[in-house]
Amino acid sequence: MEKITNTMHLTFDAKSVNEAFARMTVMAFMADMNPTIDEMEDVKTAVSEAVTNAIIHGYDDESRQVEMSCIREGQKLTVTVTDHGVGIENVEEARQPFYTTKPEQDRSGMGFAFMEAFMDEIDITSQVGEGTSITMTKYIARDDGDR
Ligand code: ATP
Ligand code: MG
Repeated sequence: MEKITNTMHLTFDAKSVNEAFARMTVMAFMADMNPTIDEMEDVKTAVSEAVTNAIIHGYDDESRQVEMSCIREGQKLTVTVTDHGVGIENVEEARQPFYTTKPEQDRSGMGFAFMEAFMDEIDITSQVGEGTSITMTKYIARDDGDR
């Protein structure tokens, strides 16, 4: 059987108000992949962490643009969140649990750990002064039954 494919690209202002919007857009995009509630929750959490990072770390309150793409290839969902902000100096350090550069703002340093835990693959590409791109993949179990 042919794989069902679909793509979506979205650009929005780096404002906290758009985090919910981005997350809901991904939920709508993946709805016809027949996900479980748990799978939807996982993706929701990961997208929320990535978009929040772009807004608060990438741009540090400067209202520039965040790009998000969703790609469906069969039951494989890939979400990419990109900012053109400050970038990350040491990605290996940044992805460690509890590592944060904003402890004074009640950040716990768990964003990347959640993305890793809730998605099947995560890839971080970043360049200081250029920006950051997070690519996350999740395989949505196929079930034509009673979901
Ligand atoms: P939490 O997500 O728990 O609120 P946090 O955002 O600090 O805290 P992570 O999401 O794990 O934790 O990110 C770790 C660190 O990586 C951040 O503190 C920040 O220094 C850096 N970082 C993450 N995303 C970006 C980004 N888009 N641009 C620049 N730096 C980033
Ligand atoms: Mg974070």
